[in-house]
Amino acid sequence: MATFSPAAIDKGLPPALLRLAAAVIAALAVVGLLLAVVTMVARSNAERDLALKREQHSYDVMVLTRSLDASIARAEAALGRYVVSSDRRTGTIFYDEWRRAKAQLRQLRDLTADEPEQTALVGRLGTVLDDRERELAAAAAFANVRKGWYAVGMFGKAGESPNVGRITTLLSEIAANERERLGQRSQATIFSGERANNFSTLLSVLGLGMVAAALLLGWLAAAAASGRRSADALAEAEGDRATALETAVAERTRELREANAQLKEEAETRARAEAQLAQAQKMEAVGQLTGGIAHDFNNMLAVVVGGLDMARRKFAQKSDETGQYLESAMEGADRASALTRRLLSFARAEPLLPDSVHPDRLVQGMTDLLDRTLGERIAVHTSSGSRVWPIWVDRHQLENAILNLAVNARDAMEGEGRLDIDVRNISVGAGEEVVAGDYARIAVTDTGSGMSEAVRARAFEPFFTTKPAGKGTGLGLSQIFGLVRQSGGDIRIESELGRGTTISLYFPRHATAAGRRERTIPPIATLPGGGTLDVLMVEDDSRVHAATRAALTELGHRVTGCASGQEALALLEGGIRLDLLMTDVMMPGMTGPELVARAHAVRPDVAVLFVTGYVGEAGQADDFAGHEVLRKPFTIAALGGAIDKAMARQVRATPGVAAA
Ligand code: ADP
Ligand code: MG
Repeated sequence: MATFSPAAIDKGLPPALLRLAAAVIAALAVVGLLLAVVTMVARSNAERDLALKREQHSYDVMVLTRSLDASIARAEAALGRYVVSSDRRTGTIFYDEWRRAKAQLRQLRDLTADEPEQTALVGRLGTVLDDRERELAAAAAFANVRKGWYAVGMFGKAGESPNVGRITTLLSEIAANERERLGQRSQATIFSGERANNFSTLLSVLGLGMVAAALLLGWLAAAAASGRRSADALAEAEGDRATALETAVAERTRELREANAQLKEEAETRARAEAQLAQAQKMEAVGQLTGGIAHDFNNMLAVVVGGLDMARRKFAQKSDETGQYLESAMEGADRASALTRRLLSFARAEPLLPDSVHPDRLVQGMTDLLDRTLGERIAVHTSSGSRVWPIWVDRHQLENAILNLAVNARDAMEGEGRLDIDVRNISVGAGEEVVAGDYARIAVTDTGSGMSEAVRARAFEPFFTTKPAGKGTGLGLSQIFGLVRQSGGDIRIESELGRGTTISLYFPRHATAAGRRERTIPPIATLPGGGTLDVLMVEDDSRVHAATRAALTELGHRVTGCASGQEALALLEGGIRLDLLMTDVMMPGMTGPELVARAHAVRPDVAVLFVTGYVGEAGQADDFAGHEVLRKPFTIAALGGAIDKAMARQVRATPGVAAA
């Protein structure tokens, strides 16, 4: 019992086994105690009963002595009457009473059999009674035979016998003995009754104690149960809190991980963007540099070509060696001119003159050229899907691009192999490498060396080449890249070392009905004016200015020259005679297209010819919309052709002039 306390339960210190053993021992002790008390109660009850029985016995003995005394007295009284009267009835009474007395004596003997002191007294009483019987019986016998006097005498003698006193004394002794015994026995009875009562009280107290203990145990158990319950609830709450904490930690961890991943992704994106920006800036710088050099170079070439052209014309009649030198100088200038064109194109400084082009027809038209360029040991195959969509692209540059791809393939195949050019429609879905949409794809496949991963990664880089110095410029693929991107398309390389390469150009499908530009050129025969034109020539570079003026004069035109747009506008507003406005594009102060726009406001009927060397930022193809463009450097013949075309455009634009 003592082992159970709420505190002990709270602490949970006593092991369950120990508690169980303690409980069993306590229960056994209680049961033992109970048994002992119950036994005591039973025993003391039995003792009390025995005492009561003995008390009763003493009473019986005492009553019996009285009865015996009374019986003797009645017998003697009857005998007295009998000896006097000799009445038989009284004689019978005497005999009956005496018999009763003897029966009572036997009873007394039986009752006192287990008490030696009394037994001895009763034995002596018996002997005395026998003596007395004989004394009385003699008197009775005389009365029986009617000898009254003898009988009275015998009776009188018997009355004087000491036995009378002895009987009385013995009976008194027996009674006194028994009374004493009764006193003792009553005492014992009272004592054992008290003891039994005490034990009963103890039992009641114990019962009450057990009830109290049971109540206490019940309360303790309830308290323990509620303690356990609250402990359980506490543990559960703790568990819940731990779970919540764990969840929160997991959540935070996940958020952190996500944030980290996002940061990493952002960092990667930024790195990529920076790399792209760096690349773009590099390209830009290289482009500007290239464009700038090409521009100056072009202007110089314009002077060289112009000068050479003039010299050739002057020496045309004389069949002198000078002509041949001039021819080879001219050829060199032409080649230099082709190079600067490529440089300008790379720098995206050259304006694109896009048009609706059928790529399959364009490729078909190039087969002869390709065959000749690639040599006999390379087989050229072209194929195309049906109804290939038209595309919006600068035709001249597309041809150049395909030629460049073919030359790259030839180099990779070392002059021997097979070149396939396939043209077909491709509809790209979402999620592909190329932006979703409809494309005409030109795929150029060779059986050459293929590219390593490193080469493929850098192939579009300007000036990147794996070819020996003097053979490669590294401008081929970068230029093609610029072209497809400017046309809203894309380019893809598939290549494996030793297995060959496929380079695919994707050009967006062009809806022919919309935005198509008519470029049909009327025959030169319809040219108005028959030759001499009044030309206003605007050119800021004095050397080019001089060369161009010479060329125009050579063609038989009248030339007014000036070095800026402002001067030209002043002349126009001054109302000079004018058929053709021929202007450079990039000039300080006012660009060619700006000049033309303002000139048209004053003289809408004037024909326009742009001469471009370097177009740069102002070089949007739309700025030249509807006007003829002549690329520097040019020959006198090219200049004449361009002037004819410009005049023809003007005729179509303003029919009134043609009628005049
Ligand atoms: P270039 O031809 O002047 O070297 P390009 O820009 O045309 O410059 O090509 C760059 C590089 O790409 C080449 O030097 C070559 O290493 C690689 N390349 C281009 N086309 C092919 C091809 N068809 N097969 C193998 N490598 C090629
Ligand atoms: Mg090349």
